[in-house]
Amino acid sequence: MPKFSVLSLTLILTAFCQVLGQTPDTWEVHDLDRPQPRIVTPAGLAASPPPSDAIVLFDGTHFNEWTHANGDPVSWILRDDYMEVKPGTGIIQTKQSFGDIQLHIEWATPNSGTGQDSGNSGVYFMSTYEVQVLNSYNNKTYPDGQAASLYGQYPPLVNASRPPLEWQSYDIIFRRPHFENDGTLNQPAIVTIFHNGILVQDHVALTGPTSHKSRPPYEAHEDALPLFLQDHNEPTRFRNIWVRNLESDL
Ligand code: MG
Repeated sequence: MPKFSVLSLTLILTAFCQVLGQTPDTWEVHDLDRPQPRIVTPAGLAASPPPSDAIVLFDGTHFNEWTHANGDPVSWILRDDYMEVKPGTGIIQTKQSFGDIQLHIEWATPNSGTGQDSGNSGVYFMSTYEVQVLNSYNNKTYPDGQAASLYGQYPPLVNASRPPLEWQSYDIIFRRPHFENDGTLNQPAIVTIFHNGILVQDHVALTGPTSHKSRPPYEAHEDALPLFLQDHNEPTRFRNIWVRNLESDL
């Protein structure tokens, strides 16, 4: 029986993901000719209270689990049961660090702007890998930068967006990358996303960290790092944020 190295299995897995139709390498980053994902109208937003083993990161009442990148207290706006980006104040990040997690987060964009300037924010796993937050309801942009894209790499399988100001949800399974002791990549990050309950990223292997107009290679990092939410100068809202730790060896 042939022996496969972990790297070989990873390459096979990556190829399998590409067979499923999400092939970043065949398209230029932010390629406007890349097909627009077809539109699927989601059903009503299902209530998703945190399960018993969840770490609640935001329940609408305080920012105790968050700081700005420099350690300052969060200056984003706390409203009735949600937070709102205060443009220009910078990203906020979790005080805790995470590797493999299941994340639930709800968000709503403002009813303003066009293209990449309509409610742009983002969920950055390990402070490095972005799931895009954007108004993608009747708002065309490059497909690898629309809502539920893995920015610059994978458009969502379908466009499950709700209109601006309406609450939307992401349920995301993030598996961190693994690196050898010498820093080379052993296993890429793997991401699965449900947007408003609809599968939009199906176990895809990230090509590396998120960047704008480029796809840089992986750089070795810690096994656990903070999650952050992007300040892209628009008053996007978030609520009901919780994670489940999927790491068994940390
Ligand atoms: Mg963004």
